[in-house]
Amino acid sequence: MAFDPACPRTLDTLTFDNRFTRELPADPQPANFRRQVAQACFSRVQPTPVPRPTLVAYAHEVAQLLDLPAQVCTTPQFAAVFAGNGCLPAMDPHAMCYGGHQFGSWAGQLGDGRAIILGEVVNGRGEHWALQLKGAGPTPYSRSADGLAVLRSSVREFLCSEAMFHLGVPTTRALCLLTTGNDVVRDMFYDGRPRAEPGAIVCRVAPSFTRFGNFELLAARGDHALLKQLLDFTLRTDFAHLGEPSAATYLAWLHEVCVRTATLVVHWQRVGFVHGVMNTDNMSVLGLTIDYGPYGWLEDYNPDWTPNTTDAAGRRYRYGNQPQIAQWNLFQLAEAIFPLIGDVERMQAVLQVYAETFNRGWQTMMAGKLGLQAFDALTDPPLVKELQEVLALTETDMTVFYRRLATVPCAQQLDSTDETLIAPLMDAYYDPQMVSAGHTARMAAWLRLYAERVRVDGTDDDTRRERMNRVNPNFVLRNYLAQQAIDRAEQGDFTLVQHTLEVLRRPYDEQPERQAFAAKRPEWARNRPGCSMLSCSS
Ligand code: AMP
Ligand code: MG
Repeated sequence: MAFDPACPRTLDTLTFDNRFTRELPADPQPANFRRQVAQACFSRVQPTPVPRPTLVAYAHEVAQLLDLPAQVCTTPQFAAVFAGNGCLPAMDPHAMCYGGHQFGSWAGQLGDGRAIILGEVVNGRGEHWALQLKGAGPTPYSRSADGLAVLRSSVREFLCSEAMFHLGVPTTRALCLLTTGNDVVRDMFYDGRPRAEPGAIVCRVAPSFTRFGNFELLAARGDHALLKQLLDFTLRTDFAHLGEPSAATYLAWLHEVCVRTATLVVHWQRVGFVHGVMNTDNMSVLGLTIDYGPYGWLEDYNPDWTPNTTDAAGRRYRYGNQPQIAQWNLFQLAEAIFPLIGDVERMQAVLQVYAETFNRGWQTMMAGKLGLQAFDALTDPPLVKELQEVLALTETDMTVFYRRLATVPCAQQLDSTDETLIAPLMDAYYDPQMVSAGHTARMAAWLRLYAERVRVDGTDDDTRRERMNRVNPNFVLRNYLAQQAIDRAEQGDFTLVQHTLEVLRRPYDEQPERQAFAAKRPEWARNRPGCSMLSCSS
C-alpha cells in the first residue's frame, strides 16, 4: 500500500477518557506485590515488558471501534504497546479489585490477576471502550500465579471472542493477539508434567469489565459507602438511560442485569456454547460473555457435557445447567447490593424477571431454531422435549443437525419411509452404524410431528430454511478447529488463526469453499486434550 500522509500510522490518535480510575478510589500502595486491597476499586500497575512482541492476528472490526485504521495494527508501535512494552501517556494502567463465588463457594478477594486495563478509549461516536491486556504480567491480585498467559489459551480467547460477536452473542471483543517471546511454564492437567509454552497476550475490548464480583467483594467487607459509589458510577457510565441513582434506580439496574444475563444464556444455549467457569467473578454486569478459559462447544448434543476437567466431578457448569447457574449468580449479586435497597420483596420480584425472560427467550429461540414463526406454549413443549431426548440418544452433532433439519421437506405430506425421511440428517450422526432401527423410527416419527407443526405454522420450506439458517450457525469455533489453529501457531505459523477468524466472520453463510470448517469433530479429536478436555490452567 502506498504511503498516505493523511492516514495516521501511529496510536497517537487514540483519545482516552479514564473514568474508572479518575472517579473511583485507588489503592494507595504503588508497588506491585500480592496483597489484600481494601477501600479501593483498583490498583495502578504497569505491564511487564517482554522481549519480542510479535503480532499473530488482529480484528479490524475492533480497531474500527477505536477509530484505528487497520494499517496501524501492523506497526511496531502497535505490537509494542499491546504487548505491554510501554504505555501511551494518556493511558492509566490498572488492575481491578473484585471477589467472587468460585464453584459455589465464596472465595474472597480475587481481582485482575493477569489482566491490566490500559485505559478507556472514547471514539468519534462518544462510545467508551476499555482496553485490557490479558497475560501482561503480575498484579497485586496475582496471588500465587504468574500473571501470564500462554499462546494456546490466548488463541482460544481471541478467536472465540470474535466468533461470538459474529454469531450475535454479547461478548467482550478482542483487538489483537501477540506472542511475547517469553516461555511460560504450565502444567496443563495438573499432573506433574509441566512444559514451557510460548507466552502470549490478548487485548480485550469492552465498554467496561465490571463483574458481579466487584460488588460482592465490597459487600462482603461491609464497605457500603464504596459499594454505593461503585454502583452509582456504573449507573452513570454504562447505564445512564436508567436515570439518577436512587433505590428505585438500583432495582431497575438489577432488573436490567437480569434481562441481559437471561438473554446472554439463551444465546449460549442456542449456539451450543459452554462457558466452563461461570463463577461470579466471570459474570459481566453488562451481560457479556467474559473470561474465555476452559470453554467448549457442544458437539454431540449432551446436556451434561462440560469441557472443564476441573469441574469433572460435580459438572456444575455443564451445558444444561448454565441457565440455573446464571440465576444463582444473580442471587449473589442481588445479595451484594441489598444494603443499598433494603427491600427484600421488591428485590425478589425483580429476580423473578430472570426466569421469566429466560423462559420466554428460550421458547422464542427454540421456535427460531425450528423455523417456526412463534412458539406455541400448548403444542411445542412436548415437540421440543421429544427432540431433545432423541438427540441425546445417539451421538448427534447439534450444529450439523439443525442445518440439515432446515433441508428436510415439510410442505407436502410426508409419506416417505423412515429411512428416506431421516436421510438428510445422517451427516449429523457421529457413527451412522449406531443409528438403530428403533432410533430411526423415533426420529422419523418426530420429523412427521415436526412437519405437521410446520404446516400448521404456514411456513413454506424455503422461508423456513432461510429463517433457520439465520439462527442455526454453520460455523462455530469447534474445539478441534481452535486446537488446529493452536498447533500451527505453536510452530510459528499464524495463518490458520487468521484464516479461522475469516471463516467465523460469516458463521451463518454456506461458504462452500470452506465447508471443511463446518465438519463435525474428527475421531482424532474425540479424546485429545485441548479438544475435549480443558482445565483452568492456562
Ligand atoms: P478465572 O476463573 O480463570 O477467570 O480466574 C480466577 C482468578 O485467578 C482471577 O482472579 C484471575 O485473575 C486469576 N488468575 C488466573 N490465572 C492467573 C495467572 N496465570 N496469573 C495470575 N492470576 C491468575
Ligand atoms: Mg476470571
